[in-house]
Amino acid sequence: MREKILCPVCEVSFLIKEEKAAGKPTICPVCGAILIMKESQGNWFLSRPAGMEPATEIRQRMDNFARLRGYHFNDMKDPLVEGLLKKRERFGDFYCPCKIDNIQENVCPCLETRMGSVERDGRCHCGLFWKKL
Ligand code: SF4
Ligand SMILES: [Zn+2]
Repeated sequence: MREKILCPVCEVSFLIKEEKAAGKPTICPVCGAILIMKESQGNWFLSRPAGMEPATEIRQRMDNFARLRGYHFNDMKDPLVEGLLKKRERFGDFYCPCKIDNIQENVCPCLETRMGSVERDGRCHCGLFWKKL
């Protein structure tokens, strides 16, 4: 039986279609995070890539998310990446650069965005992800 595995970034469970193997990377289909497959006592789980540069991790995540949803970026992308990296440095994770609360639901791509704010408003709160016209 194919069981669902929890994404540690967006906290949504999803089915892994490919064969599982320890150390193998996969992409969360909900938030675009790159995750590493791990196994312990017969149970599989996913973790964020430990040795990856923060800039690489967040850029790959946002690129994957944009591709999955069909969104695009504008020239605000680089300043917002900087903002996300500063948040990670100061508060330990990629919390939204334009929101005050450094809480799990504000880890980029935040819950508001994953729930469809780009479809509704044409862009995410910060203007990182934009709906294609
Ligand atoms: S508003 Fe945009 S930039 Fe801010 S966390 Fe949400 S998706 Fe990321
Ligand atoms: Zn996820």
